[in-house]
Amino acid sequence: MAITRQRGGRTGLPDGRRHSGGSPLILLEAEPHDRPRDAISHSNPATSELTALAAAANSLIRESMTEMVAVCDLTGAIIMMNRAMAAAVGGPGASGSLAAPAWKHRRLDGRTYAAADLPLGRALRGEGVTDEEMRVIWPDNRRQSVVVNATTVFDDDGRTLGALVMMRDITPQRDAEATVAFQTLHDGLTGLPGRLLFVERVQRALNRGARHRWSTALFAVKIDGFEAINAQFGHDAGDQVTKEVGKRLQACVRASDAVSRESGNVARLGGDDFFLLCERIGGVRGATSMAVRIASRFERPIATDGEPIRISVHVGIRVVRGAKHNPNVIIREATSALALARESGVGRTAFFAEEMAAAETARFDEEHALRNALERGELRVAFQPKISLATDRVVGVEALVRWNHPQRGPIPPASFIPLAEATGLIVPIGAWVLRQACQQGVRWRELKGVVSAPIVSVNLSARQFDSSLLTTLRTVLAETGMDPAHLCLEVTESMVMGDPDLAIGMLHQIKALGISISMDDFGTGYSSLAYLRRFPLTELKIDKSFVDGLGRDPESTAIVAAVMGMAHAMDLSVVAEGVETRAQLDALRALGCDEAQGYYYARPQAAERIDELLTKARLDGDRAPAPRPQGAAEWGSGTIVIVDDAPEVRLHARMSLTAAGFGVHEAESGEGAIDLIRRVRPDCVLLDMHMAGMSGLDVCRVLRADPATRDVTVVMLTADGKAAEKAEAFALEADDYIVKPFVPRDLVSRITAAIRRRAAIDPS
Ligand code: C2E
Ligand code: CA
Ligand code: CA
Repeated sequence: MAITRQRGGRTGLPDGRRHSGGSPLILLEAEPHDRPRDAISHSNPATSELTALAAAANSLIRESMTEMVAVCDLTGAIIMMNRAMAAAVGGPGASGSLAAPAWKHRRLDGRTYAAADLPLGRALRGEGVTDEEMRVIWPDNRRQSVVVNATTVFDDDGRTLGALVMMRDITPQRDAEATVAFQTLHDGLTGLPGRLLFVERVQRALNRGARHRWSTALFAVKIDGFEAINAQFGHDAGDQVTKEVGKRLQACVRASDAVSRESGNVARLGGDDFFLLCERIGGVRGATSMAVRIASRFERPIATDGEPIRISVHVGIRVVRGAKHNPNVIIREATSALALARESGVGRTAFFAEEMAAAETARFDEEHALRNALERGELRVAFQPKISLATDRVVGVEALVRWNHPQRGPIPPASFIPLAEATGLIVPIGAWVLRQACQQGVRWRELKGVVSAPIVSVNLSARQFDSSLLTTLRTVLAETGMDPAHLCLEVTESMVMGDPDLAIGMLHQIKALGISISMDDFGTGYSSLAYLRRFPLTELKIDKSFVDGLGRDPESTAIVAAVMGMAHAMDLSVVAEGVETRAQLDALRALGCDEAQGYYYARPQAAERIDELLTKARLDGDRAPAPRPQGAAEWGSGTIVIVDDAPEVRLHARMSLTAAGFGVHEAESGEGAIDLIRRVRPDCVLLDMHMAGMSGLDVCRVLRADPATRDVTVVMLTADGKAAEKAEAFALEADDYIVKPFVPRDLVSRITAAIRRRAAIDPS
């Protein structure tokens, strides 16, 4: 048998019969498969030759190799395999057959291989497999990308004896490539999809629209005078504005009833050119109210490191319905509508020519309908309780307006308040809500069994904020008999920041009437608490977006804690809005929050249904603890070693990580880090690449060489993010690579993801 024969003193395969991969076969300390010998002889008569085959291969494999190699007989039974292979299939004792392997092979498109197409089968048929990439899922569920080579092994007479299968793990390269791919498909500054990805999303949305015959709208959004912002405030501020615009547009999509809430529905295609995609939008009318909503997202100034910046946006809209459309054409048409909006200078919103007339009609109809709504009694006021965390009692209610449209059903305030504000209709609507709220307030004060009469809160709009407001307040208080001490008005930062001095004057006059004032949506604007000292406030409502992140997102938790501390120092009562879970409530209690409002306790509801809640001594008595949200279990559990020679970076990282619940150790040099890591066995090392003395790469090299630390998750931290450096980091099996400066939320989520990824690879 040729394969076992010594030729010219060398051990090797005959030249013509080398495996097709090209590189010579080297197996490291092959471990002969421990199947009983006679099993082999039953399955293959040429046992002695096979044993010889194994011996020959064994002698070939003196040197170390990470490639996985197995030699099989005609039945696919593994005659021998090297250590890497044995480790992959679950140790040398694991049952070994390449014909019916205990692991799965997947093609690159995700399909499984038919049994006959497995590398072994092809090699036994004499076809061989050369450098074929596939994914394998090992018996322990580890996933790897591998390159497979398989060769037929013949004897001298050309009879097939078996096959040799080799797999090379290329998972790290593929992961690194995926990272690069993500970066090329996404905009580096905002993380939003770039053109390539977005065109594909638009295409998919258009296909769905054609199938379901609904309309799809594309909004082209551009910041008004972006160049001037860059020139006046500098490019850093420009970047901050750009990022925030992306975030606010995403929030718009999330708040809409969009069919698909994939985060990819907002894109930045260069400079300040943003696009927003909405599906099943309700034609031109729906698109109009979406555009109003987009515009209203920018009433609030944008916080930057310097001074807050006030911006406005232009919106170009293209709506299509049914039929197949080309995404690139639609994008172009939205862009030309945007140009129209910018040129006309009047409206900040324009439709693509085709829809222009329809848009005007729709807006006119909508305004007309809203005007009628008040007269026809289509508006209602719902009330949502506010609960004291000290007594678990309802201490207040917030009045929230509702529109019950006779044809379209209930319309949420977010959909019509912006139009009401734009048209001035908010003034009569607001006065009506105020009156309803006061009437209920009086009724609750007189209702039997009520533990204590609630403070009734009413939302105000900027448009209501003029001298007629005081007249309205006086009239309504007098006519309803409402005690002003039980009335509270909710204002927002953007309302009062337009003209702070005027606002302060107005608020003092309102306060003089005995009415209290609450700052709504706090934290979303830019005002510092110190600045708020000038306003006569009694209450601060922490915006839902921070409450959402409580206990999960270190940034939110830190913000809520800070706000709470400072508000109390200023003698303000703090209310958390949008509380939905027990976990949030527990976090709020721990932070000393005064009151909570949200679906966890009660949704906004008709006044009569509030009656019963007001007679309860405690609202939260019988609730079971809410289950932990999915996926939260691993968030922030584990120990991290931070290695950086810059103390401020260590501090920033430590605060971010401890706030998320990680245990943290620190080292200020590479040399010190290694000892520390050996001692504390962390779940992850956050490693600065550039340090005086031993560099991060050096440290990583040492860690990977030592069996005790080889498998630790390493996340590299660098200031410049050069491609070559990144490649070097990944070559040392770094798990991720973060470019400074980082935001706490990203740091925590990337470290968590890196630990999870490695845990999925390394079952140890
Ligand atoms: P807002 O003042 O911040 O009101 C709180 C909003 O959050 C309400 O939405 C409420 O239903 C909702 N909410 C409360 N708890 C939860 C929760 O646990 N989870 C979630 N997801 N949402 C919760 P709504 O009623 O749709 O009102 C939206 C906005 O419309 C209000 O935000 C307010 O800015 C405005 N608005 C409502 N009524 C009036 C009004 O009479 N006048 C004025 N000017 N604006 C109003
Ligand atoms: Ca409110
Ligand atoms: Ca609010």
